[in-house]
Amino acid sequence: MSQLLYQDRIIKLVESIKTAGKVLALTGAGISTESGIPDFRSKDTGLWHRYDPQEVASIKALKKDPKSFYALNFQWWDTCLRARPNKAHLALAQLEAMGWLLGTITQNIDGLHQQAGSQRVWEVHGHLRECYCLVCQHDYGLEQLRHRFHCPNCGGLLRPQVVLFGDRMSEDYFIAEKVMSGCQLLLVIGSSLQVQPVASLPYLSRGIVIINKEPTAWDEQAQLIFREPASKVLWDLVNSMEKSTGPYY
Ligand code: NAD
Repeated sequence: MSQLLYQDRIIKLVESIKTAGKVLALTGAGISTESGIPDFRSKDTGLWHRYDPQEVASIKALKKDPKSFYALNFQWWDTCLRARPNKAHLALAQLEAMGWLLGTITQNIDGLHQQAGSQRVWEVHGHLRECYCLVCQHDYGLEQLRHRFHCPNCGGLLRPQVVLFGDRMSEDYFIAEKVMSGCQLLLVIGSSLQVQPVASLPYLSRGIVIINKEPTAWDEQAQLIFREPASKVLWDLVNSMEKSTGPYY
């Protein structure tokens, strides 16, 4: 299937979406690279070539040395906070508005799907809008962490609403598992599909389309594969759906 010409694969994708009853998107860091946010595992440019995830993004690292944890993490969080949606985010929002996409399950913490206008977004690895106290659970805006790492209320350690290595999954993850029930087509966009348990969500879908620059562990199960940039594929897809509206319109 992936040997088809690009335009033929777009036509197949349009047909697959129009005939599928329930379509969802699963996005990863790759959908936001065109917004200037590096992903983790891209060959040469991924953040994990520079940092050890356990040292940078684990709950153990936060508890051991909050100052270093926040200094390092704010370097890439600030890139996320400054970023703007690209054509791939806008195209997914448009597909949802047209009624062809039920919603988007994202591993990203950058909030760009919502900025692009997507209404139904499940942020399975959390987000950068808030932090909370590990002791009294009080919520604060993320900006609080620029001034202090401890709770003004009780003195407990503050942590971001981001799922770190060593954490349990977010509530959105458990909702996403339920939302996946009966999924006919999952568009996997910009994810290496190496992070569990999210990497197992494609098991819950009848069909899979991969839009990813590099090979993934799910390529053999995919009915269509695109190695082109996500913004190009999704923008061409939206334009090819014409003005027709889908079941969720
Ligand atoms: P990953 O880094 O493991 O994989 C990203 C994949 O996207 C790569 O295989 C790469 O080839 C592909 N890619 C890069 N640019 C692309 C483009 N323009 N079009 C199509 N494909 C492209 O990312 P992951 O699978 O999401 O897993 C890593 C974790 O990274 C997630 O937990 C996520 O929370 C975290 N993360 C998030 C952000 C963000 O919020 N923007 C940024 C970095 C990492």
